[in-house]
Amino acid sequence: MMTSSEIREKFLSFFESKGHVRVPSSSLVPYNDPTLLFTNAGMNQFKDVFLGLKKLPFTRATTAQKCVRAGGKHNDLDSVGRTARHHTFFEMLGNFSFGDYFKRDAIAYAWEFLTEVLQLPKERLWVSIYENDDEAFYLWQEVANIPPEKIIRLGEKDNFWAMGDTGPCGPCSEIYIDRGEEHRCNSPECKIGVCDCDRWRELWNLVFMQYNRDEHGNLTPLPRPSIDTGMGLERIATVMQNVYSNYDTDLLRPIIAFVENMTGKKYYGDERGFPFRVIADHIRAITFLISDGVLPGNEGRSYVLRRILRRAARFGKELDLNRPFLYKIVPVVVSLMGDAYPEIKKNQDYIQRVTKFEEERFHETLNDGLKLLFEGMAELEEKNQKVIPGEMAFMLYDTYGFPLDLTEDVAREKGFNIDREAFEELMERQRKKAKAARKEEYPVNELYEILAPMEPTIFVGYDCLSTEAQVE
Ligand code: ATP
Ligand code: MG
Ligand code: MG
Ligand code: MG
Repeated sequence: MMTSSEIREKFLSFFESKGHVRVPSSSLVPYNDPTLLFTNAGMNQFKDVFLGLKKLPFTRATTAQKCVRAGGKHNDLDSVGRTARHHTFFEMLGNFSFGDYFKRDAIAYAWEFLTEVLQLPKERLWVSIYENDDEAFYLWQEVANIPPEKIIRLGEKDNFWAMGDTGPCGPCSEIYIDRGEEHRCNSPECKIGVCDCDRWRELWNLVFMQYNRDEHGNLTPLPRPSIDTGMGLERIATVMQNVYSNYDTDLLRPIIAFVENMTGKKYYGDERGFPFRVIADHIRAITFLISDGVLPGNEGRSYVLRRILRRAARFGKELDLNRPFLYKIVPVVVSLMGDAYPEIKKNQDYIQRVTKFEEERFHETLNDGLKLLFEGMAELEEKNQKVIPGEMAFMLYDTYGFPLDLTEDVAREKGFNIDREAFEELMERQRKKAKAARKEEYPVNELYEILAPMEPTIFVGYDCLSTEAQVE
């Protein structure tokens, strides 16, 4: 069995052997890019290189990149725990060509890595291409010998990749693996590209970077066609470790095992295991986001972190974890990933303190809020109503610190919806009031006590490298 660390290393050294420079992951907080909430792909740190605004002393790079997709254009928060393949935090393995090689070599390298280095069975692999990309259609047949019926044409939604509403983008081609007929879902249309179930597991996306999209949606060609690829480490690990779900790989299963020990409850891979999966996923995001300098708060990135943390805390209650517990799992994440990402090792103590602080604050109100919500739903049920009024959702938000998606999670489990419109209206009113009298949102003094002796060691990595490179 190949460990995740071995896969990561094999990937990076394979591309080094093809003339790529190994570049460290950049921070989850995008450097100097207001268009992006969190780093969501390996190419983010090279955006300006693709756009021709910045030059590097090399034209090929390879990375293992920390990514978070929980907000902004790419938001997978809702899929976490439901699918076997989506996370908030994940690692993306990538190779990049800055105006160097293009489609043919990108396809050849990916195919060689999968079928020769990792020795995946060719007959299980399928590919998708952008609807009118005949060049890719022929290259897959020529270079990889894939029969035409296993090359699927898909539209803009799946096969035209963009990091955000603006920026570098282009048609792409995805490599899928069929996890087997036994995983056929109930949909009559259980086909690659059509069905969203876990049988057809997208492993790797090869983006043929060709355009820059401006604010008006206009596409202009990049100075030179380039390549950007991304493969989720957790997903390829399932294949190499012969398990079905990302949660059963060596990256996540040990976290679940720790929670099993902590609670004395057993994990099951089905519906019952949902809280375990959410906690295992979210604690990784929490660890890495705090390490990269994000603090829980009420706006932007900080609010996403808060939502993730509170969601994990709430799911803890379903496992009868009635005291702060998330901070205790941080060392497990560090032991699993600290070698690949030394910053979390350095910051472990800090990460735990920030996590515990936020957990304690929320636990004060979590119980009361939940009680209120359950009572509210029981009352509505008596009246045969299944919609939670905006006022209640807002009160839970305002007084009990329940992010809307947390209330929604709980409501959904009981078959309830929320009157979102009424909630938003109350929020808007609140925003206007808050603007008039900005109140302190955090007990700043206490937080500073935590922060004073220690700052997170923010890993700038490539940002430093690029400044040096620019001097050339
Ligand atoms: P999917 O269709 O499965 O949602 P995607 O097309 O949105 O994936 P890309 O934007 O193409 O994903 O990202 C490149 C690769 O990163 C994917 O092929 C996959 O291996 C991995 N990946 C994407 N999103 C996630 C996620 N939320 N969790 C784990 N891995 C992911
Ligand atoms: Mg997706
Ligand atoms: Mg996809
Ligand atoms: Mg994709």
